[in-house]
Amino acid sequence: MFYRILALLICLAFLIPGAALAGQVEALKVTVLSTMLADQGLGEWGYSALVEVDGRKFLFDTGANPDVVLKNAKSLGIDLSKVEDVIVSHNHGDHTGGLIALRRELMKRNPLAIGRAHVSGNIFLPRLSGDGADQNGLTPLKAEYERLGGRFILHEGATQLAPGVWFTGPVPRNNSETNWSTGGLKIRTAAGDVVDNVPEDAALVFSTAEGLVVLTGCGHAGIVNISEYAQAIAGTKPVFAVIGGLHLFAKSDEVVDWTGAQLRRLGVKYLLAGHCTGIEATWRLRAALGLTRKTAPVSSVGSAFTLGKGIMASAIAA
Ligand SMILES: [Zn+2]
Ligand SMILES: [Zn+2]
Repeated sequence: MFYRILALLICLAFLIPGAALAGQVEALKVTVLSTMLADQGLGEWGYSALVEVDGRKFLFDTGANPDVVLKNAKSLGIDLSKVEDVIVSHNHGDHTGGLIALRRELMKRNPLAIGRAHVSGNIFLPRLSGDGADQNGLTPLKAEYERLGGRFILHEGATQLAPGVWFTGPVPRNNSETNWSTGGLKIRTAAGDVVDNVPEDAALVFSTAEGLVVLTGCGHAGIVNISEYAQAIAGTKPVFAVIGGLHLFAKSDEVVDWTGAQLRRLGVKYLLAGHCTGIEATWRLRAALGLTRKTAPVSSVGSAFTLGKGIMASAIAA
């Protein structure tokens, strides 16, 4: 009897799509909705991407100007009203600027649209400028977002938002990457004021049969730190695709080359870097990784990575 039940369970596992591969993503598409380069829609210093994964949708960051993600989605023919979960990677205004406008506009069509905002638990820490003012980019939006029915979900550590879809939460800084430029802002601690290294910076990680896909906003935690942490939480598989901003635009050639060598070691075969990566740094990373214009174009509005297909660049970056 026991073996009959076991056989039945094994059969069921193969009949139910995904059941045999719990914790692994089967279908994934990431479409960039805000970055600097655009030949369709508007470019801005900001970042946002739509994630479509196994029938669910997530918005990752919300761009800088309130209406750019809404306008770009419209010009790309993308309907965001079914997106109920938004991820805010960190507090900076070029990732949070669209949050209120997106919630306000899309809730007219779906009361739940952009209604849950996933963030690291320490995102609301005050970021103090020299005069003691709090320059946190998300704090001023909190009351209005909640008044509109939105809810912040604070994650203290790594968590699975869906099978095979990980929100990292704060990323351990094991390598000496300093991929931030916060203009002298400080965080107050019991031991005194410390440099704001954007400790809340979080990424999304997708576990697939081919390996891990990492999606990052500004990559302030360091893309090597993020990729190594992705393996720690989602399994020691190659990080075969990296998407998003890597904040290398102001870094020396030596730092970019080191980053490229580390990403090569980690198994990166696709790079859709945009936003604060910098165009020169993207090309340098492409060379260090041994990739091509097809597998490592500069990301632009509408460019996309699709699991099993690779990268679709826009005309200007193809
Ligand atoms: Zn930033
Ligand atoms: Zn940024």
